Amino acid sequence: MATHQLIEKIAVIKEANPGNLMARHFDAAYFLSLDEHARQSLAEIIASGVENPDSQMGAYAMNPGDYDQFATMLDPMIRDSHGIAAGTAISQQHDWDTGGTRCDLAAIDERLRDVSMRVRVARNVATFPLPGAMSKEQRVAFERVAARAFAKLAEDPAFGGTYLSITPGSPNEIDAGEYERRVEAHQMFKDMSADPYLNAAGISGDWPHGRGMYVSLKEDLLVWVGEEDHLRIMAMQRGGNLSILFERLRSGLETLTNLLPPFATSPTYGNVTSCPTNLGAGMRASLHMKLPGLTSNGTDLTRLKKAAQDLGLAVRGAGGEHSGAGTGGRVDISPSARLGVTEAQIMRRLYEGAATLWAMEQTANPTPP
Ligand code: ADP
Ligand code: MG
Repeated sequence: MATHQLIEKIAVIKEANPGNLMARHFDAAYFLSLDEHARQSLAEIIASGVENPDSQMGAYAMNPGDYDQFATMLDPMIRDSHGIAAGTAISQQHDWDTGGTRCDLAAIDERLRDVSMRVRVARNVATFPLPGAMSKEQRVAFERVAARAFAKLAEDPAFGGTYLSITPGSPNEIDAGEYERRVEAHQMFKDMSADPYLNAAGISGDWPHGRGMYVSLKEDLLVWVGEEDHLRIMAMQRGGNLSILFERLRSGLETLTNLLPPFATSPTYGNVTSCPTNLGAGMRASLHMKLPGLTSNGTDLTRLKKAAQDLGLAVRGAGGEHSGAGTGGRVDISPSARLGVTEAQIMRRLYEGAATLWAMEQTANPTPP
């Protein structure tokens, strides 16, 4: 697209889609001040928001250095998205102190003893471009680096497990049936080539080459390879004890970090991620809960979203981002903040927010006597 066409298109998006942060913060004068090479790089970073006007962020970094090189545009977007005022220093502290077993939902209500809990962190290694700019060879080469680390991780009895690849011809390749089963079990990521946001950013390029998932013996520690970030490392289990869940991720992450090349980090933004929404802790901690009263049996999320927002929580459908509520009003709730909050704060926010929503649910949908 010619430069003037791009500038005009973004102006139209800004009018029609005020929620698109890329369009909101795009400054034509800044864009035109860049040399041709830098302009091309920035055009790739914002391509997803240009092709998908309904994007919330509308930009994905292609290289870890983009956050510094294009800070003039990206920093205001990051601040807008994370609610950090201009002029306020951004500081990303890390603190995983989960406080023993204190965050146990079962202590609030016995019925919360068996919810589905998941906490993931996004990580990218510093030695490869981010997924949007990787070549097919780089995707496959990174998968080999990761697979070697998983082979070592599997030797540790605390983890065990195996690496499952969907790269055609990989020695670890699984068949289509097993891939589908793992997707349905909410373990494996969906076919990214069906996602217009990721397609426009180049993140789903060369699908399914260089993609796969490590799964621990107990299936409670999972690592995605080649999704939106190089790695999505997660703990997932049924239960109500968030402290135990977090401790599982903390120890898995620590062990794996020592087996991999160094991760890309920024002195300002903490962990570097493709999508600016994930910067910082890079963490999304979620609960799948049934809230039929607050969602009119899963048909209308408006009331729940409003209540959740006031608690610093976001609501997704039970099938992940951009999906609707599941049967019985099953939804995904998670703290929205990732940048400028510690891991322990994220956990407490989820625990306390879930407790409040659960109390609201009881009055919205009283159990018959
Ligand atoms: P993220 O972007 O944080 O990795 P997504 O919204 O893309 O998460 O969802 C990825 C997958 O994880 C989906 O299958 C979703 O249903 C599943 N998932 C998310 N949270 C939970 C949870 N608490 N319990 C079970 N599955 C979950
Ligand atoms: Mg996702």
